Formats: sequence, structure tokens, C-alpha cells
Amino acid sequence: MMSVLWIGLSFIGMEFFTGWFHKNVMHGPLWVLHESHHKPPRSFWQRNDWFVLFFMTTSISLTVVGAPDGPALWMGIGVALYGFSYFFVHDYLIHRRVGKPHTPTNRYLRAVHRAHHAHHKHIGRETGEAFGLLWVPRQYWRD
Ligand SMILES: [Zn+2]
Ligand SMILES: [Zn+2]
Repeated sequence: MMSVLWIGLSFIGMEFFTGWFHKNVMHGPLWVLHESHHKPPRSFWQRNDWFVLFFMTTSISLTVVGAPDGPALWMGIGVALYGFSYFFVHDYLIHRRVGKPHTPTNRYLRAVHRAHHAHHKHIGRETGEAFGLLWVPRQYWRD
């Protein structure tokens, strides 16, 4: 049962961590990589995709360190599950890197879209809003 707890806590922790990381690191010292994601895409791969590698390495390292049944293993799995969810929602559902653009009918997903598009209205590094992804602040739920 502890495994489920660790996976859940890591998943939730990742939403907070990536919100902080996005705001303070990606819109900070590593803007050089993230900037590509705030400009019209010029090719399928963006410099911003290096962050996927960073989170994958973190997840795999935790899994290896925690094997066969330590807390770090479950944390690694939690980080991986969050990564897949993030990629699915952010890259597939929102940015449609594959497939045609569409507007979701689900109320939660509409709020997720609205919040993330509000984030993308800001082209520069300094100003911004909605740095998180899956947890949507109240003001984006209106409709
Ligand atoms: Zn950003
Ligand atoms: Zn985006």
C-alpha cells in the first residue's frame, strides 16, 4: 500500500515542482531552451524538448536507486506517470504536435486549455501566468 502512496505523492509533488521549475528555471536561467516553446514552431523538435530528457533521467535514476522495492522506485514511477500525463495533455491535447487542432468538450480539459493558452499569450521571459499544468487555478474555469 505504501507504494500507491509514494506514487500518488510523487505525482502531485511533480505538479508543484514543475510549476516552480517552469516559472523560476525555464523562465529564468534556462530560458535559452524554453524560449523555443513560446515562439511559433519552426520544426517538430524544439529546444524545449531537452527538458523531457532531464525529467526522464530523474525518473529512471530514482527507479534504479529504489529497485527492487524502495520508496525511490515508487517515486520514480510517480515521476514517470506524471511525465506521460504531462506529455499527453501538453503536447498532444493542447499543442497538437500530432493530429488536428480541436476544442475539448470536457469542462476540466477546457480549463486546462484556457490556462495554458493564457500562459502562451506571454512571449517574453519576465511576465507570465499559469506555470502549472494539471492543477488549474480558479480564474480559468469560467464558462
Ligand atoms: Zn513558459
Ligand atoms: Zn505549451
